[in-house]
Amino acid sequence: MTKYQCVVCEKDIPEVHGPFEKDWEGMWNGGIVDKIAAGYGSKIDGDMFVIAICDECVIEKNLKWVGNYMERGMTKFEIPKFAKTKITK
Ligand SMILES: [Zn+2]
Repeated sequence: MTKYQCVVCEKDIPEVHGPFEKDWEGMWNGGIVDKIAAGYGSKIDGDMFVIAICDECVIEKNLKWVGNYMERGMTKFEIPKFAKTKITK
């Protein structure tokens, strides 16, 4: 089973099921795992990486919320779901 560690707290983020050809694809239990790419202006322009961050750190670090790919028609004035969620540690 593939797992990544949160870049902030190092908590394990295991895959829900798999394996996939690219091990960063799929669904993850308790966090986000995805590919990121450095753009123009970065010293590592063009390089791509996999990043993993757990749900708790997304909220604690107040990552900028830009939408929900499962919900259509939301406006920027609507309150994101996770803003109402209390996470117990
Ligand atoms: Zn974390």
